[in-house]
Amino acid sequence: MHSIEPLSRHDALVSWNAFLPSAAAYAGARNHVKAGHLNVSRLSASIRFRTLIEDEIIEDTLKQHPFEASEKWLQEVCWRRYWKGWLEAYPQVWSQWRKQIRLLRKTLSAGTLARAEAVSSGRSGVACMDQIASELVATGYLHNHARMWWASFWIHVEQLPWELGADFFFRHLLDADPASNTLSWRWVAGLQTPGKSYLVRLSNIEKYAPGYLDENQAGSERLADGAVNAVVVQPSAGLERRTPPAYPTFLSPPTGRQGLWLHPDDLLPESGPLAGLVPASVAGYICDPVYRTTYGLSQKRIESLHTVTRDGLSRAASHYGCSSVVLDAEDPVEGLYAWACTHHLSEVVAFAPFVGPIHDMLSQIGMRFAAAGIRLTLIRRPSDEVAFSFATAGFFPFWQKMSRHLKLLCQS
Ligand SMILES: Cc1cc2nc3c(=O)[nH]c(=O)nc-3n(C[C@H](O)[C@H](O)[C@H](O)COP(=O)(O)OP(=O)(O)OC[C@H]3O[C@@H](n4cnc5c(N)ncnc54)[C@H](O)[C@@H]3O)c2cc1C
Repeated sequence: MHSIEPLSRHDALVSWNAFLPSAAAYAGARNHVKAGHLNVSRLSASIRFRTLIEDEIIEDTLKQHPFEASEKWLQEVCWRRYWKGWLEAYPQVWSQWRKQIRLLRKTLSAGTLARAEAVSSGRSGVACMDQIASELVATGYLHNHARMWWASFWIHVEQLPWELGADFFFRHLLDADPASNTLSWRWVAGLQTPGKSYLVRLSNIEKYAPGYLDENQAGSERLADGAVNAVVVQPSAGLERRTPPAYPTFLSPPTGRQGLWLHPDDLLPESGPLAGLVPASVAGYICDPVYRTTYGLSQKRIESLHTVTRDGLSRAASHYGCSSVVLDAEDPVEGLYAWACTHHLSEVVAFAPFVGPIHDMLSQIGMRFAAAGIRLTLIRRPSDEVAFSFATAGFFPFWQKMSRHLKLLCQS
C-alpha cells in the first residue's frame, strides 16, 4: 500500500534518515503547508505505532545537531508522549468521548447530522475547508496546521460537536492516536486549556497555505479575520486526575512457557525491555469486524493497521527465532486466548497498552487468562515512564523537565 507516511520499519528508517539533516531547519519551515509536505517529517504513523520510536529519533537528533538548534523538533516529537501521559492520568476523557459519539448519533437532530455528514464529505461550501476534508479521506494524512484549521472550522464556524469531528479524524488519519487526537480536538474547543480556544483565520491560511486558496475561494468570507467567534464548549463534570497505574519496566525471570502479544501501541519489541524475551510464539491480531463495527475505520486505515502489524510480527519472528501468528478471530479476546492455549503458554507478555482501544480490552483479556491460569505481564518502557511522570500539568512545565532530562542524556 503506497502511503504519504511510511508504515514499515524499513520505510520509516529510510524517511527518518532522509529527514534528519533538516531537523535544525524544521522550526522555520514546519508551519507552511506545501504540496508533498516535505518540510515536515510525515513520520507520525510510524511513531504512533512505534515502527520508529521517539528514543531513537531523540538520540539520532542529538548526535547530529546541537540541542538548541533542534529544540523545536525535539519538542514536537515529545508532544505525543506528553499527551499520552496526560491521558493516562485522565482516562475518563477517552471513555467519555467514545460514549458521547454514540449518544450524539442517537440524539442529534437529522438536520445537524446531515450537516456533519456534508462538512466531513467536503460539501460545506467553504472551498479550502472542503479541500482539507477531501485530502484527509484520500491520503489519511493532514499537516498539523490543516488539522487545526479544520477542527476550528468544525467547532467554531459550523458549530458542530467536537466529538463527531474528532471521530471523523480518528476514522481516517493513518496516525490516529487516542491521546493526540482527542486532546488536540479538546484544545481547539477550549476544553484542554480552559478559556483558550483556537480560532481559524483566513489571513493565517493565506500566509501558510496559499495553495488551498489558489483555485477556489468560495465561502472563505466565513473565515475572515474577526468573523469567527469562539463557541463556548461546556466541560463535562467530574474530571479528576487519577494516579496512573504503575507497570514494571523490566522483565522478571520467566515462570513458564511465554508468548509475546504484539499490538499496535508498540510494534518494536526487538528494542527495549522485551528484547531479551524468549517467547515460544508471537501473536498480533488484525480484527476487521472490530475496526469496522466498533470504530468505523476507513478502508485505508484498516489496510495501514494490517501493514504495520504484519511488519511488526515479521520483525519479531526473526528477532526471537520463533513463529508469529496473525489472529483474525471476530473476537480478539477469544483469539488471544485460543492462541495462548494452542501454544500451552503459562504467561503472555506485552507492552502495556496506552489508554485507548487496546487498553479497553485489558480487563476482559486479564479475566479470560486468569480463569485458565495464564498470567498476563504488561511491561512499560522506562523512557515512557519517565516522560509520563513529567506530564502532570501543562506542556511547558513538562518541557522544562523533559529538556533537562534530554540534556543530561546528551552528556552521558
Ligand atoms: C485536531 C488535531 C488532531 C490531531 N490528531 C492527531 C492524531 O490522531 N495522531 C497524531 O499522531 N497526531 C495528531 N495531531 C498532531 C499533529 O498534527 C500530528 O502529529 C502531525 O501533524 C503529524 O505530521 P508529521 O509527522 O509530518 O509532523 P512533524 O511536524 O514532522 O512532527 C514530528 C512528530 O512530532 C509529533 N508531533 C508533532 N506535532 C504534534 C502535536 N501537535 N501533537 C502530538 N504530536 C505531535 C508527531 O509524532 C510527529 O510525527 C493532531 C493535531 C490536531 C490539531
